[in-house]
Amino acid sequence: MRVPYNYLPMQFAKPEAIFRDWRRLIRTSEFTLGPFVEAFEKKFARFIGAKYVVSTNNGTDALIMSLKAVGVRPGDEVISVTNTFYATIGAIVAAGAKPVLLDCDERYQIDLNLIERAITRKTRCILPVHWPGCSPDMHALMRIARRHGLPVVEDACMAVGGSVRGRHPGTFGKVNAFSMHPLKPLNVMGDGGMVATDDECAYRWMLRYRNHGMVDRNHNDIWGVNYRLQPLQAIVASHVLDTVPEIIRIRTCNARLLDEGLKEIRPWVVTPPRPAGFRETYGLYMVLAKKRDALLRHLHRHGVEAKVHYPVPLHLQKAARVYGYRRGDCPKAEQQARELVSLPMHQFVSVRQIRYILKTVHNFYRN
Ligand SMILES: *Cc1c(COP(=O)(O)O)cnc(C)c1O
Repeated sequence: MRVPYNYLPMQFAKPEAIFRDWRRLIRTSEFTLGPFVEAFEKKFARFIGAKYVVSTNNGTDALIMSLKAVGVRPGDEVISVTNTFYATIGAIVAAGAKPVLLDCDERYQIDLNLIERAITRKTRCILPVHWPGCSPDMHALMRIARRHGLPVVEDACMAVGGSVRGRHPGTFGKVNAFSMHPLKPLNVMGDGGMVATDDECAYRWMLRYRNHGMVDRNHNDIWGVNYRLQPLQAIVASHVLDTVPEIIRIRTCNARLLDEGLKEIRPWVVTPPRPAGFRETYGLYMVLAKKRDALLRHLHRHGVEAKVHYPVPLHLQKAARVYGYRRGDCPKAEQQARELVSLPMHQFVSVRQIRYILKTVHNFYRN
């Protein structure tokens, strides 16, 4: 049996509804911003429960713009976490700031106990990551940030459809970023992103900054960039957003089956704690596995397309050498990097395939 990692051909197997809206778009020829983009922004704002949403061309630019919107300037420090996708830290550097990379906990989230010790006079912002569609204890994190008067920017790129005690990820911080890359729970046919905020002033600045700083065709108050979302993608996003609750529902069922089945082979395979009150999106389903690399080869040999996200944490990447991190600085993340494995469990993986994955993993440890 094969269990593919990629679900995109299945997801877009019936694109007629999208084509209908694309035809409407072509008739209006509103190819930069315009009504389709605005309609999607309003719809997404309602979905997550934010006052304002500004769409962008991808999640990385959404992060860069969020950091700038909360006042991050060259020379500042931004506290974030070492086990994330490169873009989180790349965005900090692109905003001119220095990333301060903290270790994570057993749920793969920023270790809240390390934040206060990392705050210096230069700290300008805290950037937690909902990795990989799971969430830190945002209420506790916000209390730490408030105590120090620091704004929070959430990297909620993986977290559309999640929840933290009834609140959507990306609605806690001052300005928060989302991605619609093909491998996120809400995805388009290429790149897309959003920024959400309840702060009207930040919202107005971002609307302008995203579009060259233009007030109108003839006037320009600030120097901006072109971070615009393509209307073609806004239409895709709008259709896929309607299916997100169902996507998360199926992934949650699959994750429960895997969690249950893997419990029997503790401590060879360890699933993360999943406390009540957190709805995960399972952007990735990651567990810790002993003899990980051999397990990975075994899974591939038997058609299960498992992956590793990622074998080297960011503080040990060559790009991070300038900050002087050493092996041992983030022991939890380093240990996890040796043992993490991501199993396919997306919305097109059937119960039969889940059973097959479990059987394949069990067989590996039996020998
Ligand atoms: C995907 C991702 C990003 C980057 O989003 P893009 O849309 O690919 O630019 C940033 N942070 C995290 C945690 C991500 O998973």
